[in-house]
Amino acid sequence: MQQNKLFSQTRWQLAIWYASVMSFILGLLGFGVERAIIHAHWQTLDREIEVVAGTLHDDVEKDLRQPGRLEPTIQQLTQIPQRDKRHVLGAIHQGDYYARFLSLSGENVAALGFLPDGLPLTPGEPMWQTLTDSQGNRYHQISLSLHTQDNRPWGYIQVGRSLSDVDAYLANVKLVLLLGLPSAIMLVAVSSWWLAGRAMQPVYQSYQQIQQFTADAAHELRTPLAALSATVESALRSPHLPEPEAREILQTVNRQNQRLTALVADLLLLSRMERQSLLVQHQLCCLNDIISDLVEELESLALAAAVTLKAEIKVYKPLQIVGDEEQMYRLVTNLMVNAIQYTHTGGCVRAILDKEDDRAIIRVVDTGIGIAPEHQQRIFDRFYRVNSDRSRMTGGSGLGLAIAMAIVQAHKGSLEVHSELGKGSTFTVRLPLGVATGSARADIQPRDRD
Ligand code: ADP
Repeated sequence: MQQNKLFSQTRWQLAIWYASVMSFILGLLGFGVERAIIHAHWQTLDREIEVVAGTLHDDVEKDLRQPGRLEPTIQQLTQIPQRDKRHVLGAIHQGDYYARFLSLSGENVAALGFLPDGLPLTPGEPMWQTLTDSQGNRYHQISLSLHTQDNRPWGYIQVGRSLSDVDAYLANVKLVLLLGLPSAIMLVAVSSWWLAGRAMQPVYQSYQQIQQFTADAAHELRTPLAALSATVESALRSPHLPEPEAREILQTVNRQNQRLTALVADLLLLSRMERQSLLVQHQLCCLNDIISDLVEELESLALAAAVTLKAEIKVYKPLQIVGDEEQMYRLVTNLMVNAIQYTHTGGCVRAILDKEDDRAIIRVVDTGIGIAPEHQQRIFDRFYRVNSDRSRMTGGSGLGLAIAMAIVQAHKGSLEVHSELGKGSTFTVRLPLGVATGSARADIQPRDRD
């Protein structure tokens, strides 16, 4: 694939597209994960601050009498040493918490816990704030209004928490994501390259097959065309052509023409089958008739080759399949003609019809030259010939078995070969027996062959 510029370029393009799309998706995913983690942390943080602030607010508010003035009991609370305060306001001293009491005019009346330097006093709304102190540390705080016992506004209580641990954690998450993403993208790029290669493999194979097919077809067409042009040129060179010679030349031209026509017809058939546009007619075809007809028709060919040809019908009732009768004739003809052609003088070819469960079996058995194991799978390839010289002598182009296989596949059957070199070959066709399906039933008509 690397040697072919078009395929190697397309592979690169595919890999780049895969990698870009996957990187975009991974980026989005990473961003989503980061947002989810941040959101979860802020939720926990807000709930934590709310609980601490609410408890403190309720504890303090019930003792307030004068707006802007803390009662001695509360003042004591703010002045007792750190060690003793811990059990009273444990939460405030657990983390980086602080609490401030602000009068209505925004004056700091008292403070609890750790108090950051240069944190702006922001009385009142908004309820939630994120502030930065003089050293650039961030704090998240809540402001709640306080009221005296007789319900006059007293001022505010602000409870906040340092964001340093949260910020450090989120910075770590960001770092992991930022480092992880390029590594993931690298992995994605490598796997994209590999995946693009895998995705293109079948396309490349079929491209190579087409190229091979075109080259083989051109090669096959070239031989009869060259023979034709040589014959015609030699005829044109002689000024007075006697009639018997002219007739001979015309016969040669006709022979080559027939060969070319047959070859082109075979190529067309195969190409139509390839595009799956080949019309498989839904007719009931009687296999008994096909076998008997063909044994009769090919009798002269078998006689000429001094080969015994016989039919063995092993079923008592006629076997019918749903399919294209003409193609069925073609399939069995190809197998039987091959069997006759590749069997030595005095050999025997049998066309056997049998039934196995719901399948019809056609076996073409010969006592011919056989096929070596290494060729047995390849003989179904187009233009493949085990021995091209012998094949050419018999007029074969190497398309007969490819066509047979295509016909069998179009009829949802199978075609197998068992062969032993020097002993003979058996070609077995299995076809589903004809039970007319709902959609096909309307098209099914028994057909007479001329
Ligand atoms: P061809 O037109 O050359 O016969 P086919 O596609 O029909 O092409 O067959 C492919 C090759 O398979 C033949 O060239 C021949 O070598 C081999 N082959 C096919 N049928 C037989 C057989 N019955 N016995 C031995 N060899 C066979």
